[in-house]
Amino acid sequence: MKIVLYSVRSYEKIFFEKLNRKNGFNLDIQYLSCRLNKNTIEKSNGSKVICTFVHDMIDEEILQFLFISGVRLIALRCTGFDHVDLESAKKIGIKVVHVPGYSPESIAEYAVSLILYASRGLYLSSNEEIEEVRDTLKDQVIGVIGTGRIGSITLKILKGFGSKLLAYDPIPNREIVSETGINYVSMDDLLSYSHIISLHCPLNQENYHLINKDSCQRMKDGVILINTSRGELIDSESVLLAMKSGKIRFFCSDVFEKEYFLENENNCPLKEEHQVYKDIFRSFKKQRNFFFTRHRAFLTKSSLRKIAKITLSNINDFRNGSSSLKYELT
Ligand code: NAD
Repeated sequence: MKIVLYSVRSYEKIFFEKLNRKNGFNLDIQYLSCRLNKNTIEKSNGSKVICTFVHDMIDEEILQFLFISGVRLIALRCTGFDHVDLESAKKIGIKVVHVPGYSPESIAEYAVSLILYASRGLYLSSNEEIEEVRDTLKDQVIGVIGTGRIGSITLKILKGFGSKLLAYDPIPNREIVSETGINYVSMDDLLSYSHIISLHCPLNQENYHLINKDSCQRMKDGVILINTSRGELIDSESVLLAMKSGKIRFFCSDVFEKEYFLENENNCPLKEEHQVYKDIFRSFKKQRNFFFTRHRAFLTKSSLRKIAKITLSNINDFRNGSSSLKYELT
């Protein structure tokens, strides 16, 4: 069975090739570095399965094209699925699977690195004068929003620094309370007491622009904001204003609103909303208190190994006619 992988980087191919051979799947895989969009969709002709990444926007129109060209399974090589129209996929008759929790440590460690980078001013070059002396993490209050797989590991690592830890999650994780002694608080309290805030919740309809003008106002002056989750959790324009006024001292982000525009190497015409965010991103890049890492928090060997393993075994089960696939979303 022919499978087309979109948006593949050379470092991913190594893991897919190795596991395809080692596990005896012998799938006929075609690796494409281009993104899935209207210009590249025909490359999937003749394959029942395609495999995509976070920047491959899959809306109803793309799904219809895929169905006509014979695709019946989309295997996402990521945890988040906010970029896929799952309802339409179900209606049209295309299954969608993803890879949850492949290596939460990779993202948690990255978030903690960003916390240290911002809080200790590691971005200052050695010949720059220190204008403001920083404090230890031990003396900071750190608020974590979302305490699932990634958020809870972030809290466990941060416990080692001796920081006071606060958390907000509509579904509290009792295990993490007993392991770390954190306090669950209301969102309001988390915003107003934290020196550092790290986002670890998935994007959904309820939390779009969770960090907005109002929430920025409720934060401490000089707060540090970290986002390794999804760009749309943040209202970029409000955060930009808060960064300019000093309300937000530093903003480290691995993601950006409508970040699709960053990976537009096929030069597919950008939709107006993407063009708008491309311009907003330019304004962010001019800010000295902004550090952006281009969706790389997940990128470790451990993540790539697990993503390849789960994705290939799911595709193999699909080939063998299995009616229930692991981590099916539709
Ligand atoms: P998870 O499902 O294990 O945990 C998410 C937690 O967020 C849950 O406990 C849920 O109750 C909570 N939550 C939901 N809505 C919330 C809200 N409004 N406020 C506070 N908490 C809320 O997910 P996870 O594996 O920890 O992943 C979290 C997110 O991280 C993913 O959805 C994805 O967007 C992002 N992610 C980013 C990268 C990267 O490379 N940057 C990689 C993997 C995942």
